[in-house]
Amino acid sequence: MRFFDAHCHLQDERLLPILDAVMERARQAGVTDMMCCGCEERDWPLVGNLARRFPQVRASFGLHPWHVSTRGPDWMETLRRFLSDVPSAIGEIGLDHTLDRTRFEEQETVLIAQLQLARELHRPVSIHCRQAWGRLLELLDHHGWPENGLMFHSFSGPKELVPSLTRHGAYCSFSGSITHPRNIRGRKALAAVPLDRLLIETDAPDLLPSLPPEALAPGVNRDLPVNEPAYLPLILGVAAEIRTTLPETLAEATRANALSLWHLS
Ligand SMILES: [Zn+2]
Repeated sequence: MRFFDAHCHLQDERLLPILDAVMERARQAGVTDMMCCGCEERDWPLVGNLARRFPQVRASFGLHPWHVSTRGPDWMETLRRFLSDVPSAIGEIGLDHTLDRTRFEEQETVLIAQLQLARELHRPVSIHCRQAWGRLLELLDHHGWPENGLMFHSFSGPKELVPSLTRHGAYCSFSGSITHPRNIRGRKALAAVPLDRLLIETDAPDLLPSLPPEALAPGVNRDLPVNEPAYLPLILGVAAEIRTTLPETLAEATRANALSLWHLS
């Protein structure tokens, strides 16, 4: 089986020092492609370098709602430069209402600017949304849904939301959070997404899936284990059980969906 990790952060300081081992474990696990998302100006050069160094690493550049306050005066110009220098998509961008309320307006300004850039440059978009679905849909309806593809990463909305997203051609991507049996809402949403709109991701190094201790990669700090792309087959296996389908079917479909969303082959 071959797998596409639709969302991860290989540039993270928890993964960079062990990256050769991480990439080798990903290869052995059959993870042939990884969409590596930059989140702030500081990490865009790292993502660009990784995409140049590893053919299996695909790049996205964006300003994440958590990092809006770190942006410099020329951030849009810098973003444009990365988007033109490296074959890439836009993300991770979005809205997060679990954060400090004073930044909601700033988050929206930054998101809208990047959605406009995606339209202008014909790029697909990866969206982060936490507890802000109502407002996000309002903004998308008002400013226009991305015309060149979009995905909602680590989808956390209710299953009732799925049709209003897929109607606009959106993909819903599920992370290791669905491996936790108590995540009933996430599991119901996963079961509700049409196969041709579904993606699977690790969001490494965050969102470590529920793993038996023996499944942890050798040599990692067992007290502070980090997530990595090699765990994607495990997440996909649980997703296949929830959807009562074969892992092979799910691996093939989610990989084909990712290739189609990001215009890759
Ligand atoms: Zn992420």
